[in-house]
Amino acid sequence: MAFYEQQVGVLISEDAVQKRVRELAAEITRDYAGKDLTIICVLKGSVFFAMDLAKAIDLPVKLEFLGVSSYQGGTETTGEVRITTDVSKPMAGKHLLVIEDIIDTGLTMQFLLENLRARHPASLKLCSLLEKPARARTKVDIDYKGFVIDDHFVVGYGLDYAEVYRNLPFIGVMKGK
Ligand code: 5GP
Repeated sequence: MAFYEQQVGVLISEDAVQKRVRELAAEITRDYAGKDLTIICVLKGSVFFAMDLAKAIDLPVKLEFLGVSSYQGGTETTGEVRITTDVSKPMAGKHLLVIEDIIDTGLTMQFLLENLRARHPASLKLCSLLEKPARARTKVDIDYKGFVIDDHFVVGYGLDYAEVYRNLPFIGVMKGK
């Protein structure tokens, strides 16, 4: 892919991302053996990550999709979170694993975990590909974490800038941001 080269530099290569996905999947496979696991893919940023992860988990996995809006475009979080697409079934009594692309301020995930906890699942855990601790405004415990990154605005592997760059197979940094 060449279309991005003027605007985006590679931060985490496709190989490194895929290797980490396999490692996380192996951990999840071990931890959920014998349990009925439901993965909640948070739209749209975690789609590629959640699907690669689901394919590498050696267990029967149920998939749910949940859309939240916390950004109104650009690179600043507003702290205001809304569920734009909800899961398709009741979540009570289920073992839920939320799959997120990045925990930045943590405000989106704090809201989402509280919302899901109120639905009385059997268990609730979080898997995030990235964490940006420099910008944390609330503490969110990540049970399965891909990479900790510095305070960059990242794109690729599901993450966008104004809806572009999601389909890059690696994690990149916007040049000049
Ligand atoms: P938080 O509520 O933790 O500040 O933000 C979570 C959401 O903001 C993420 O799910 C993601 O959609 C977006 N976000 C935060 N940091 C970045 C970033 O560096 N790049 C992109 N593309 N989105 C980000």
